[in-house]
Amino acid sequence: MDLQQSVASLPRTRPATINQLRALGIATLMDLLSHFPSRYEDYQRVSAIARCQVGETLTLKGYVRRGQPLFTKTGLRLERFLLEDDSGTISAIWYNQPYLLRLLYPGVCVSVAGTVKLFGRDRTMIAGGFEIIVDPQAPTLHTGRIVPVYPETARLSSKTIREKLFPLLKDLTLSDWLPEPIRNYNGLTDIVSAYRQIHFPDSQTQYQAARRTLAFHELFLLQLHSSLTKQSWQRQALKQPFSLLPDQAARLKQMINALPFSLTPAQQRCFREVQTDLLQPFPMNRLLQGDVGAGKTVVAALAAYLTYLNGKTSLIMAPTAILAEQHYQALHRLFAGVDPPLRLGLYTGATKTTRTEPRYDVLVGTQALLNFQAGRTAPGLVVIDEQHRFGVAQRAKLKTKADQPHLLTMTATPIPRTVALTLYGELDISVIDALPPGRLPVKTYLVPPEKRDACYRWIAEQVKQHRTQVFFICPLIEESDQETLASVRAANQEYKRLKQQVFPQLRLGLIHGRLKAREKQAVMQTFYRHQLDILVATAVVEVGIDVPNASVMVIEGAQRYGLAQLHQLRGRVGRGHRQSYCYLFGEFSDRRAKQRLGVFCSQSLGLTLAEYDLRARGAGTLFGQRQHGRSELKIASFSDFRLIDQCHQAVNHFLLHHHDLKNFPLLTAELAKLKSPAMVGRD
Ligand code: ADP
Ligand code: MG
Repeated sequence: MDLQQSVASLPRTRPATINQLRALGIATLMDLLSHFPSRYEDYQRVSAIARCQVGETLTLKGYVRRGQPLFTKTGLRLERFLLEDDSGTISAIWYNQPYLLRLLYPGVCVSVAGTVKLFGRDRTMIAGGFEIIVDPQAPTLHTGRIVPVYPETARLSSKTIREKLFPLLKDLTLSDWLPEPIRNYNGLTDIVSAYRQIHFPDSQTQYQAARRTLAFHELFLLQLHSSLTKQSWQRQALKQPFSLLPDQAARLKQMINALPFSLTPAQQRCFREVQTDLLQPFPMNRLLQGDVGAGKTVVAALAAYLTYLNGKTSLIMAPTAILAEQHYQALHRLFAGVDPPLRLGLYTGATKTTRTEPRYDVLVGTQALLNFQAGRTAPGLVVIDEQHRFGVAQRAKLKTKADQPHLLTMTATPIPRTVALTLYGELDISVIDALPPGRLPVKTYLVPPEKRDACYRWIAEQVKQHRTQVFFICPLIEESDQETLASVRAANQEYKRLKQQVFPQLRLGLIHGRLKAREKQAVMQTFYRHQLDILVATAVVEVGIDVPNASVMVIEGAQRYGLAQLHQLRGRVGRGHRQSYCYLFGEFSDRRAKQRLGVFCSQSLGLTLAEYDLRARGAGTLFGQRQHGRSELKIASFSDFRLIDQCHQAVNHFLLHHHDLKNFPLLTAELAKLKSPAMVGRD
């Protein structure tokens, strides 16, 4: 069977269905097989009509005796059918599906799955799925089994997907690209049964085995891909490897001594790791992770200095003009003690003509740098301060433009170990896991609705007494990377309400993602210069602004944010010497949401919070609930801690013994397929 055939080759399939499949990104039969259920309904139990109980979810089989439409007092339309088997009769109802009256005429044998409820005083089956029984020996697809439910899909029903998949799975032949010893050692099933059981599980146990098998396949491929990328990166020989001769070492030491502060042990360790990389004969590809305020910039500055000492320039790229400007200022301070002084340049959309010198040692900028850089000598070091927002596409572009530069990516996004192993396996990772001395942890509280006014009064008081500044973060309206119009509108309203009704005596400003870069910068500047007391913002301020005088962060609709994201927001305060506070407003009636936010109040390390969230929200249970949150993985989950470790060992073991993939043509072919656009950015 050729699974690369188009879905157009599916038997008895209407063009409309084929188009709907394509709209879901399902182009080939293989894509269809890999369209996994998001959850299942357990309709395994089949009962005689007379014996079913109110509250049970199960399957009933019987003959239709009559059917009629029914209108409820609230104006809902129903279709009600009387079903009969040898043991008795029961009503079954559907909501507003008039066509059923034509389909289920008296005498038709039907299998109906759903939940039995009391309707008035009668036991009634509320139908979830049904199928007409023609051949009593034939397997059922939509009832009488564990039934797969596929992710919400415009107009394509799970029923249709089941009907397309079932015959495909029945005749499925597929050779397993994962080497057999690996499958055996890790207790995996064969790939064909895995596909069959993930779509139509015979039992929960078989489902588990299938999921584990397919997840292992997915993880193995990603991890192997990362490892191979890392190997090939390390095979690029640098034309001029860096050196650290005694004279250079002395100057580096001099710079460290002249810094406005002394490095923390965590910063020292991270810079040592970077320095070791820089002295190797192949390019560095390191990720420096550290919470906001952990002090990543100085590590980048030291790397840039070592690059300068080797006669090469450095590029430092920030995600926004504001951040580029801040880096530029910060670097001036960090390089202040260096003699002779370094030539620093700033290159953003707004400043390119005024401040750029033709020759520079360190050039700071936004992605506009990429165009500027074209045609110049390749930099020795590229630092990407992605601050967790930097575009994947730009990153890819940068890598191809520059000719083998050392690459240092800095991120404040905590990367749980499982994510690091799976998606970032080709990177070396350094973590700054402690804040500079003297930082007070931000005191964080949940504010119940009845204390909201008191909290507002307290904030107004803080502003008056301590001349402190405050962030108000508006709730996420829709989950989306781009700021939606709805969010902007909501932010506008909240801004007006706070300005007119709550803090009429204070100076308020508003910033959101729909403002032009120049407007944003202007608002930020006024806040930075303390011409505003309160900055109302959508989550855009997440991209990082250093305003040490801000010491209060208020987050509305806190339950909607992930802990890692809340943590980023909280990191905007607590940068100065004053005790800072973070107040969470929102809807906390859900016990689990409250517990999650409770953890947030008591924990201050980003990585700990991210791993907690992964465990708490990562994977749900099989029946009833959605299985995965949104993630880059199709079937595995980053909360599969054990599986990811097992897979990691399997990949290492495999690479140790098989340097040449030539003997594994199926595996090689599978790896080649990984070069989808999403993979480009996972350097
Ligand atoms: P981030 O990791 O968020 O980029 P920065 O590099 O901007 O953090 O550093 C945050 C602040 O902490 C800056 O004002 C910086 O000067 C200061 N800082 C960094 N390292 C130290 C240190 N070792 N001791 C004292 N202050 C430090
Ligand atoms: Mg930073």
